[in-house]
Amino acid sequence: MMIEILLIILGLAIGSFLNVCIYRLPKHVSISKPRSHCLKCDNQLKPWENIPVLSYIFLRGKCSNCHTPISLRYPFIEILTSIIFLLLYYYYGLTIQTLLLCVLFSIVIVITFIDVDTQLISNELLIFGLIPVSIYIVLPGLSNIGTNLLGAIGLSGLFFLIGYFGKILYKEDSMGMGDIKYAFVIGLLLGWKSGILAFGISFLSAAIIIFIYSITKNLKPRQKIPFGPFMSIGLLIALIWGEKIIEWYLLFYK
Ligand SMILES: [Zn+2]
Repeated sequence: MMIEILLIILGLAIGSFLNVCIYRLPKHVSISKPRSHCLKCDNQLKPWENIPVLSYIFLRGKCSNCHTPISLRYPFIEILTSIIFLLLYYYYGLTIQTLLLCVLFSIVIVITFIDVDTQLISNELLIFGLIPVSIYIVLPGLSNIGTNLLGAIGLSGLFFLIGYFGKILYKEDSMGMGDIKYAFVIGLLLGWKSGILAFGISFLSAAIIIFIYSITKNLKPRQKIPFGPFMSIGLLIALIWGEKIIEWYLLFYK
């Protein structure tokens, strides 16, 4: 139980830092200075106003100075980080794999939400993400480098083709270069089998979300939707439940 509690606290604290990265990196401002402040009135947060999740509850979701509502996304990302850390711990135990995957998913969370905000996936963040992935796949006994390289080339190739034919069909970019590079990183970690699964899940989840959006009429025609978040969902599900899903699928089709 001790480890779980520590992981939750660590997840909340790192999630709080990821919030800063998501907000500041696209603006190219320092992530350490100035200290956290209200986006509306510039009121600098006192230490007790900067505690993950708890401060949001104490402040009832408003700035203590100007009462501007604070986005629910801040506590959401903090809780999400904790949940992902716990999931990784449950499935991979107290191992170096878990550590590397926690580092990777911290970067994935930043990539995902910056993509939501700006529709861009930066090269710097992808290269940063390649570091834990590269260490992960060379760890002895975990994976077969050939399979992983095939996953990287296969998955990014698939995204490239979709982008290529999408451009012919719709006369505009349907898949950004960022998505193709992100597919490379995901394929490299998962290998081709789980990589294909992640690919399927990302398109399925995108289809579901677009369907929900279109019935609630929140979707303008030809509105651009960032694809990175769906790739992150595919990555998480394929990484944690991938083998089980593939096993189940093969059983079904025997
Ligand atoms: Zn304020």
